[in-house]
Amino acid sequence: MDRQQEFVLRTVEERDIRFIRLWFTDVLGMLKSVAIAPAELESAFSEGIGFDGSAIEGLTRVYEADMIARPDPTTFQVLPWRGEHHGTARMFCDILTPDGEPSLADSRNVLKRALAKASDQGFTFYTHPEVEFYLFEPPTADGPLVPIDHGGYFDHVARTQGHDFRRAAITMLESMGISVEFSHHEAGPGQNEIDLRYADALTTADNLMTFRTVIKEVALEQGVFASFMPKPLADQPGSGMHTHLSLFEGDRNAFHEPGAQYELSKTARHFIAGLLVHAAEITAVTNQHVNSYKRLWGGAEAPSYVCWGHNNRSALVRVPMYKPGKGNSSRVEYRALDTAANPYLAFALTLAAGLKGIEEGYELPEATDDDVWELTDAERRALGIKPLPQTLDDAISLMEKSELVAETLGEHVFDFVLKNKRQEWQGYSQQVTPFELKRLLQVL
Ligand code: GLU
Ligand code: MG
Ligand code: MG
Repeated sequence: MDRQQEFVLRTVEERDIRFIRLWFTDVLGMLKSVAIAPAELESAFSEGIGFDGSAIEGLTRVYEADMIARPDPTTFQVLPWRGEHHGTARMFCDILTPDGEPSLADSRNVLKRALAKASDQGFTFYTHPEVEFYLFEPPTADGPLVPIDHGGYFDHVARTQGHDFRRAAITMLESMGISVEFSHHEAGPGQNEIDLRYADALTTADNLMTFRTVIKEVALEQGVFASFMPKPLADQPGSGMHTHLSLFEGDRNAFHEPGAQYELSKTARHFIAGLLVHAAEITAVTNQHVNSYKRLWGGAEAPSYVCWGHNNRSALVRVPMYKPGKGNSSRVEYRALDTAANPYLAFALTLAAGLKGIEEGYELPEATDDDVWELTDAERRALGIKPLPQTLDDAISLMEKSELVAETLGEHVFDFVLKNKRQEWQGYSQQVTPFELKRLLQVL
């Protein structure tokens, strides 16, 4: 038993923890949980806990259903919402096959493989997500969604639940070791944003899984309803998850070069070029739902076109204002992502796209200073600015042909995602929507 595992056992005893939840994530990014008693912990560490993988989205084919979840002791945290007395803790798990090999269907493992590749080239990958979500009154069966307030961007909305909500959520996150950098009211009514401090991508992906759970728990406590759906209200901004990306070589930010344009190193320029070249083919994963495309094409500062710019909020990749003397804060913001993505897979793919740019020495096109939404199609064509996929169907067609995505996700996850997304598109295409009924029923 290693020291981390011993620490977990000791803490469980000292703090009178009665349940340990083992968490892992299915291919679509949904959190799965199984609770074990403290007496099972030692064998969970040594052998793992068996479960039926065929019952979990994307994990196995039926004939190889037995899978093993082995907890990662470095992720041990007590769950604050379960109370101090007879408490509950959780650990994230790695998924193994019955032979003890890492499962090819485990998204955490997909990200670990991508990070190992970066590490072979001397890089550590850091991410810092800005998570947006809506708070609604608890929905009724068929009534409209009612946001909890009428605030807008950075509004200080007097006497609303929003403040209390953010304070309670942040307190809970910090008590679980998840640091929060900023929080504010976002542009839509009832829309909020909480930004996590940057951390290595595996930690951030684990933190995002916890984050989504914490927000739902706090919402329940406060009698409101929280949703990360990318575009819940047709006429209001969607909820995105802009993510700031950087590579470090040891303690040094590899994106920073004093004196260069925007203080961006060659490494950073190739990385951005990689993101731009591969953006369209990774979109079925970074924006995995039919609804994600309604955000991407619904305006309100969500990106629709593939270009980069310094502080340009219409660009897919934005290089934030450089703070003099803060070289380690050099980073690029990838603005397509939404919180409904599987963060492990999405981080693996953005990293792979950027690394490809570095490996192949992709040339970075000129930065775009214009508001790309204001340009005409002809102007965008002349500038070489292509659109992101406009629908999930477009995104699937592009992903299908992508070697980069196939290689990064591995065959099993690649095939599963494509199959699942095709089903989603087909199910959606067969709907007769209120839009059609309203336009056609009476006039035809
Ligand atoms: N809600 C916008 C989006 O969907 C982003 C607004 C902003 O923070 O710039 O991406
Ligand atoms: Mg925002
Ligand atoms: Mg942003």
